[in-house]
Amino acid sequence: MSQASIQVKQYTPQIPLKLVKNNKEDKFADYQSLMDFDVASRPWRETLAHSFKTDKELSKVFGNINPVEEDVYKVIATRITPYIAQLMDKDDQACPIRIQYVPEQNEMDVAPQEMGDQLAEDDMMPDGTSIVHRYPNRVLFLVHNICGAYCRHCTRKRMVSDPLNVISMERIRKSVEYLREHPEVQDVLLSGGDPLLLTDDKLDQVLSMIREARPDLKILRIGSRLPTQLPTRITPELCQILVKNRVTLLNTQVNHPKEITPLFVKHMAMLRTSGIMLGNQSVLIKGVNDSVEVMRDLVMDLVSNGIRPYYVYSMDPAPGNSKFQVSYDRMLEIYHGIRGWVSGPAIPTFIVDGIGGLGKMPVQPEYVRKQVIDGETKLLATNFEGRNADMSFLLGE
Ligand code: SF4
Repeated sequence: MSQASIQVKQYTPQIPLKLVKNNKEDKFADYQSLMDFDVASRPWRETLAHSFKTDKELSKVFGNINPVEEDVYKVIATRITPYIAQLMDKDDQACPIRIQYVPEQNEMDVAPQEMGDQLAEDDMMPDGTSIVHRYPNRVLFLVHNICGAYCRHCTRKRMVSDPLNVISMERIRKSVEYLREHPEVQDVLLSGGDPLLLTDDKLDQVLSMIREARPDLKILRIGSRLPTQLPTRITPELCQILVKNRVTLLNTQVNHPKEITPLFVKHMAMLRTSGIMLGNQSVLIKGVNDSVEVMRDLVMDLVSNGIRPYYVYSMDPAPGNSKFQVSYDRMLEIYHGIRGWVSGPAIPTFIVDGIGGLGKMPVQPEYVRKQVIDGETKLLATNFEGRNADMSFLLGE
């Protein structure tokens, strides 16, 4: 469905106002006071406490902030850390960082194909747990429903930032018991919300419980966007906890090269030197990274800093996401535009996540294909420049 043909309607969320409580003295009076705020030297929690949570706070500091109604914050709360705010253009609404975080009234415009749980995660959650068991040998384990900042394109906006959806310790315990009872699970991905928003002690507790129940787990992964939202969350103490609990890999979400800052690079290097593999999962977002040039720069900058560009996701149809949707054809063009032009290790897999819980499926132009020519089946291969080779010798035994 093309962007132009999507019909939208107003969305009326039936849930209480999400977390928009504010502490007035923490906020910035103007742009200069924001830019003077030294993120690098402050404890991460102190920086987090200075986050922007409403359009009114943003409009004191930035130009061209459109006012929104309070109901918008029921779709997804706003939280923008000072670190993210410092990356945002002061006035330009087309800034790729602003697009990802600054709320607009159109959060409530919902297209017919959009739904709260489009990946049917709730249906695949064993009773009492916060585990999504979709694939035979690996599970998603939701450990928190709060994030360092809230992305307008979030897949799980049905639950993140929702005070009614807090993940209790009881659910976490039941989830760990589930892992104990299912030895076929060999790969656990902690996600949420953001697992790294847990305190060090709580994160250590959860990881230790998992390792105690399943010392044989082959892979223990964490998905976190905090490295791009507040890199100072990565501390030597956090790295020790991850190493102690044998966390294999941390996947983050960088969507634009502007997010690869010296502070981000410095703190991701702490994880790398601790021996933790690093990956990135971008989301293809209209106006942010739906360009061959941006995507080439992004994947090369990631690899040059030791972060593997792992997946590029199409936009999941969560409520209000159609405004960011990039078409399938454009997705193929972008893939084609980077293949051959960037290093092999920098090429991510482009993915659609099948609605209804079908799981992830790769999207690829057909570079190698069977074709019947003059009644004879041939195997044709087309390279990144559009040049063809007849590879029919591969059709034999
Ligand atoms: S950090 Fe992840 S879970 Fe949180 S709002 Fe962004 S996309 Fe959603």
